[in-house]
Amino acid sequence: NVSSSIVATDCEMKGGDAKDWDHTNFAWSKLIQQTLRNTFNAKSFRSLQLLAVNATMAARDCLVLMPTGGGKSLCYQLPAVVKPGVTVVISPLISLIQDQLHHLSEMGIPATVLSAAKESDNSIYDDLRSSTPELRLLYVTPEKVVRSGKLKTALQRLYERNMLNRFVLDEAHCISAWGHDFRKDYTELRGLKHLFPTTPIMCLTATATRRVQDDIVRQLNLPKCLRFFDTFNRTNLTYEVHPKLKGKQMISEIKDVIVKRGLMRNKRVQCGIIYCFSQADCEKIASELNKVDRSAGDHTRFPKRLKAVPYHAGLPEATRKKHQEMWQRDEVNIICATVAFGMGINKPNVRFVFHHSMPKSLEAYHQESGRAGRDGEHGLCILFYSWGDASKARSMLMDSARKERAQPAVLQNNLDSLNTMVSYCENMADCRRTQLMAHFDERFERSRCRGMCDSCAAINAGVKFEETDVTNFVIGIMNIVRSVPEGIGIGLLVDVLRGSAAKTVTQKQYNRLPGYGAGKGLDKSEAERIARAMVLRGYLRENTVRSEGAGPFATTVTTIHYNRPRCEAIQQGREQFKIAFSKRRTGAKKAPVISAAVTVTLGTQPDTQPEAIDDFIFDAIGP
Ligand code: ADP
Ligand code: MG
Ligand code: ZN
Repeated sequence: NVSSSIVATDCEMKGGDAKDWDHTNFAWSKLIQQTLRNTFNAKSFRSLQLLAVNATMAARDCLVLMPTGGGKSLCYQLPAVVKPGVTVVISPLISLIQDQLHHLSEMGIPATVLSAAKESDNSIYDDLRSSTPELRLLYVTPEKVVRSGKLKTALQRLYERNMLNRFVLDEAHCISAWGHDFRKDYTELRGLKHLFPTTPIMCLTATATRRVQDDIVRQLNLPKCLRFFDTFNRTNLTYEVHPKLKGKQMISEIKDVIVKRGLMRNKRVQCGIIYCFSQADCEKIASELNKVDRSAGDHTRFPKRLKAVPYHAGLPEATRKKHQEMWQRDEVNIICATVAFGMGINKPNVRFVFHHSMPKSLEAYHQESGRAGRDGEHGLCILFYSWGDASKARSMLMDSARKERAQPAVLQNNLDSLNTMVSYCENMADCRRTQLMAHFDERFERSRCRGMCDSCAAINAGVKFEETDVTNFVIGIMNIVRSVPEGIGIGLLVDVLRGSAAKTVTQKQYNRLPGYGAGKGLDKSEAERIARAMVLRGYLRENTVRSEGAGPFATTVTTIHYNRPRCEAIQQGREQFKIAFSKRRTGAKKAPVISAAVTVTLGTQPDTQPEAIDDFIFDAIGP
């Protein structure tokens, strides 16, 4: 098993050591063990919980990183119980809060939420004013803390009476614009430490890169914050990237995967999530999955037992809730959801998480795919990838940045995140786990993956990845693109490179361009991979414009442009360009210029056709 890298530092390593917190010799240790057993009905702590509990009991600020379902709530709920006084929990969603309150009331722990609906509920305020409040946990949304003067005063009084035990910031990554779920309300919590200097703050999140962690700590002004985190490696999940197919083909592919990859039990499809790009996609995919295509023999494979429901912010609250509950209770197998689905979802037996479109960042991917296999059993995570989706996502980021007048640095960060995501999809040569972990600053040797990703599985099956020098082709592409200042679509570019005599090429006299035919003999997919790698590495720029119509009728055209300053070193022969291509160790038939494109070649779909965009909603549900 993988040792969890427990880290407890205050960055400068001032007296920060996991051992300081990982023991039961504190004054409160006995009480805590009793409460764990008697009130929380748990036998023992899970990893990190004891450390976090001890740290917050010692009134230290801390940041706890634990996967969803890992047991973050206990880290503050237990301390809240063992000592009189109030713990204020700031949480972004009322639905999450309701869940917690339900659990707490079952355990008989006095807790409540202060929502807009209850603002006039004086009993809460009366209790807060009493010398020893009954209430142990007070849940609030961030905007409540910031906006309600009445609450602020009440907290101030508690603080003065030493009855304000701690603040808990759930989903703390929302405070950072570098994270993947930035919420503006959170930034207004920056003043907490100033207002309540001696009250410890506990930040909880399931996902934060080093940069996001630093940002949380800096914004909240917690220079001595202890950080507790576990490894990001989820050993029981398999990670794969498959080429995305169009429309109905994609649906049958999904059904195929379900059957072939053992995602059925007792003729029933097991529990899964399919993340979709848009609200319209959720609806379409759910309804297509529910259709039984008898000609394809589906009815024998899915005997009335595949049921999918959509979930997105466009549905009425009641419907959304109903669909989630049906899925939670295993009455439906699959939930087709936008990113609006997820925060706080904790279903242990999710056997697969598919991404019908790629997420905005690797962090988002890690978190969303991480909803599989919470029970420790196997989970299959497949991302269906197309280059066209990447272009679409990129242009959406630009559009929304323009609309919201986002800072250029924030836009750039989002584009970089997306780029990292796309690079992951394109990179079949490196172990997926190595790539994912590296994103969270963890080193991971691929030998530890044990074939639990498509790259390692391919290697086990005899595929070899070889760094190949493709500088000549790259120069060919540069020469073509440089001569077409108005830009050129990737499909056409590849045709020109491979010296195609197609009408689309000759009509515009692209067969006269320097670079025409420089990639004769290259596979189409190989040529595309080279061009994409050039975009990802910044040698070429992609530009997407909406050409016709508006809203659902808009079409987009993506063209590729020359980025001169970046290209010079290669043009002048000072730099080489290498890509890892796959090769079969044995039985490569006639060897093309680079290699046989093996079955595991990714994203071979040409995306020359402008695609209609269903709707442009980055889905999210506000509090
Ligand atoms: P998170 O907030 O990290 O997503 P939760 O705090 O909601 O996770 O906990 C997830 C589940 O794990 C809950 O059902 C909780 O009761 C359970 N749990 C947490 N800690 C323990 C423990 N030490 N022993 C047994 N069950 C636990
Ligand atoms: Mg939680
Ligand atoms: Zn691997």
